[in-house]
Amino acid sequence: MGSSRLEQKAKTTGPSNEPSCGTVRAYNRGCRCLRCGRAYSLYRTDRRQAQKRGETRRYIPIAKVQRHLKKLSRQGVGYRAVAAVLDVCPTYIQSVKVGRRRKCIREHIAKRILAVDAGAVSDSALVNSSKSWKVLNKLLERGYSGRQLGRWLGSRFGRLPERGHRMTARMVRNVEQLYKRLNEGRLKRA
Ligand SMILES: [Zn+2]
Repeated sequence: MGSSRLEQKAKTTGPSNEPSCGTVRAYNRGCRCLRCGRAYSLYRTDRRQAQKRGETRRYIPIAKVQRHLKKLSRQGVGYRAVAAVLDVCPTYIQSVKVGRRRKCIREHIAKRILAVDAGAVSDSALVNSSKSWKVLNKLLERGYSGRQLGRWLGSRFGRLPERGHRMTARMVRNVEQLYKRLNEGRLKRA
């Protein structure tokens, strides 16, 4: 297992440092063989899909994003809360915030982080969930499945939030609204 880095390099670059066939680099150097053509078309498809998602390949200086994260911190919004809003891993946001060696960040990611403000985060603040769980337990007793409730609540992976843990303020509000709608008969079991 595990070819060395040197061997891997030998695989992508032939003798005299020419990129070998089946790579985008070889295509860019002008090779139009079948393997290079396929590698290039796969690459183009990936790029087109990324562009549709609004991703650019541009990098911008990270300093502005770090200042923004630090400002949010002072307003009581930590990296965990920012991560919850963006639905990304908290470790990643932390690494952006304190990354000293990191100078740049992808533009589309920077835009998303910069769009987070203290108002948006209050929704993601973690709050006591015991009232919400009383409601959820009632609904489970009525025979609604956790899966169905999770889906209605728009929770991640369509599951109920973890019992005994705090919930986001948004989730607490969703539970209230769901209960009301079910009682008013405005929602039907799927
Ligand atoms: Zn080729």
